[in-house]
Amino acid sequence: MIALVWFRSDLRLDDNPVLLETLHSDACLPVYCLDPAQFIPGKQGLRGCGVHRATYLLDSLAALHSSLQKRGSGLLVRLGAADQLLPTLCAEFGVNRILTHAEHAPDELALLGRVVAALPEGTLMQQRESNALFAVDDLPFTLNGLPQVFTRFRHQIEKQLPPMPACPAPEYVPPLPCGVDQRLGVDLCLADLGLEPLPLEPRTSIPYQGGEAAAQVWLQDYLWQTQAVRHYKTTRNQLHGHYFSSKLSAALTHGCLSPRRIMAELQRHEQQMGANESTYWLWFELLWREFFRLNLALHGKRFFLRGGLRGDHSPGTHDQRFDDWRSGRTGQPFIDACLRELNATGFLSNRARQIVASYLVYELQQDWRLGAAWFEQQLVDYDVASNWGNWAYIAGVGQDPRGGRHFNIARQVQEHDPGGDYVAMWSDN
Ligand code: FAD
Repeated sequence: MIALVWFRSDLRLDDNPVLLETLHSDACLPVYCLDPAQFIPGKQGLRGCGVHRATYLLDSLAALHSSLQKRGSGLLVRLGAADQLLPTLCAEFGVNRILTHAEHAPDELALLGRVVAALPEGTLMQQRESNALFAVDDLPFTLNGLPQVFTRFRHQIEKQLPPMPACPAPEYVPPLPCGVDQRLGVDLCLADLGLEPLPLEPRTSIPYQGGEAAAQVWLQDYLWQTQAVRHYKTTRNQLHGHYFSSKLSAALTHGCLSPRRIMAELQRHEQQMGANESTYWLWFELLWREFFRLNLALHGKRFFLRGGLRGDHSPGTHDQRFDDWRSGRTGQPFIDACLRELNATGFLSNRARQIVASYLVYELQQDWRLGAAWFEQQLVDYDVASNWGNWAYIAGVGQDPRGGRHFNIARQVQEHDPGGDYVAMWSDN
């Protein structure tokens, strides 16, 4: 039996049920398809993936290749669309089954359908949930019965907590199919993707590079060395710095860490150091991630409509004000500072994300989906469910029971940047 592991946003060996399923195969071909379409400017000149996330991704692929190599295997990285590359590879190497992790976004589901349709006859496609805390079948409700308000969702989960075991990385990986060795590794750079590298930004709040090993070191640092998690609840709304929040989002997005591993480590921390409000709050925020993932699985394409779950089909506004917003030239110093940070580093604190989103929607009266698309291009941690779910929430067309969040900018600045330090930090680029 020859297996092919189609890596997507699960770029790790640890707690990877997809990889574990291949261990009894005679041979296994680990593959990543880097689709150039996501780097080509589309509507409004926006890319599906910009330079920050692409950099993190290339680092993560190189790290995964190196970890696989240490186990006698390696990663085949190819530039192209999965529905063209995978059928050819299956035919070339006599692959009997493809294993991949489950994605729930409509585009990813459509791609999966195209891959399956193009596979040689008899090749099996199997998916495993690997980037969620819970399998849908373990939840105390069906997907159709998913509570639509976060608090109700959380209460039901916490009342009947499903199991969340994390499995260790395999010590070995089956050998590669014959003839593939010469082509392994990541010999691509940003220029191959049509992107220009940016200089390293010393003001970044994200303190580590892509890849599983770097993400694990960071998790240990956050939970054990600095124990910054112990003040998470009181600092999480700050704007800048390495330790005010966990900075786990980019690792989660690329699957360099699994959420179950983070929870397992958090629980170990609580057992040894004691639980407090802050350690609880990290779990609380990871539940938000879960909430949006499940909602995307439930609502599919409606997640991306202007009227979102509310069904308003009126056309959205797009004018010069969006371009000023995205380039940090609105004239509102705090908003401009936030956009400059985002553009220079690919990261923005949660509070800043909320404020700039509210400003675009309510002060500038622009279509919220433009903002979501700008974040999609710029964020190092872009996650389809969390990004579009949060934007819709703020725009009042998602799950917010209060019907949207309009932030008072002056009050937010007074509360979060009273001395103007943050604005000053981002005033010179
Ligand atoms: P922490 O505060 O340390 O939280 C720990 C983890 O919990 C995060 O890494 C993340 O996985 C999860 N989490 C925290 N807050 C949220 C939330 N509101 N919704 C969903 N998950 C959450 N997060 C993304 O991962 N990708 C996105 O594309 C994204 N887009 C956003 C867009 C807007 C408009 C807003 C308001 C929020 C968005 N978020 C997104 C959520 C949140 O801002 C980031 O997860 C967080 O700032 C990342 O930093 P951290 O890892 O230090 O988070």
